[in-house]
Amino acid sequence: MENIKNENQTKCDIAIIGAGPAGMTAGIYSARLGFETAIFEGAVTGGQMALTPHIENYPGVPGPVSGMELAEKMKTQAESFGVKITEKTVVTIENGSDEKTLVLSDGSKITCKAVIIASGAKSRKLNVKGGKEFFGRGISYCAVCDGAFFKDKAVAVIGGGNAAITEAIFLAGTSSKVYIVHRRDELRAEKILAEKAVQNPKITVIWDSVLKEVKGEGLVNSIVVENVKTNETKTIEVNGVFIYVGTVPSNEMLEGTGVKLDETGHILTDESMETNVKGIFAAGDIRGKTKQIATSTADGAVAALNAGKFVKQI
Ligand code: NAP
Repeated sequence: MENIKNENQTKCDIAIIGAGPAGMTAGIYSARLGFETAIFEGAVTGGQMALTPHIENYPGVPGPVSGMELAEKMKTQAESFGVKITEKTVVTIENGSDEKTLVLSDGSKITCKAVIIASGAKSRKLNVKGGKEFFGRGISYCAVCDGAFFKDKAVAVIGGGNAAITEAIFLAGTSSKVYIVHRRDELRAEKILAEKAVQNPKITVIWDSVLKEVKGEGLVNSIVVENVKTNETKTIEVNGVFIYVGTVPSNEMLEGTGVKLDETGHILTDESMETNVKGIFAAGDIRGKTKQIATSTADGAVAALNAGKFVKQI
């Protein structure tokens, strides 16, 4: 379905920042309660979920389904209930006594009675020699987007969490060789993924090792890794480097709002998903709890139901 555009909209009941699983679920619940609901999405519909090649742990969708496909389904479902989705970034939130005004990337404003922050997280960058120079020239933070460039070539995946291992298995489908460089001797990823990776003949895990440098001539041709136990370094020939060393919260729009964050920059809420600022709620990865699609959708539902109660009271 084509996006419902709402370029001229200046008012809404409930505004939702972010179109990942938390934001989309909040939108579905909010619209079904009868509230005029506007979602603002950044560059990617579906947030982090959309960057995941295979999802097989979301109940009712045995899959494997791609994150992009699930995101599109959620979007279509939200729009079918009248949610208006706009591709504009929210730059700041002006906190009025009864209303919140969102200032959008093009300078336009929309005033709403409650706001749900479901802005999620973005990839944590790894600061290594060559990291900036070779970004887009072999270094990537998105295997779904860039994996095809490395068909029949060797690649490295940095990290040992669910994201790194999911992407390593995905890349092994097309690349000739996948090295997982992990700083410990045990993967953080869930057992079923870790076993699949370790058993894959194309994947080799370089244990207890960190990336020190990315090298190349115009494009990446090798990496230097260091064993943290022996301090030995070695050079591995690869053409691609996929970095999955966790995420950082997308909280830039909160500056000046007074919304309380924890020490890692994630939003603090109570059980009803309300923040310390009346009328501002949060849901999903931006809360920094269990970062799963299932928990994000649950957050989104709770946030929308309570934002709805709040709107009815004011
Ligand atoms: P994560 O679970 O935080 O894992 C990050 C990985 O990067 C860890 O293995 C960590 O090592 C490593 N790391 C962190 N900083 C590093 C550094 N400076 N140098 C080298 N390695 C470093 O993050 P994620 O995998 O991006 O996943 C984010 C969230 O989404 C998680 O909650 C995850 O469970 C969820 N997710 C779930 C699925 C799924 O359920 N299938 C798929 C994707 C993501 P240590 O292990 O030593 O800490």
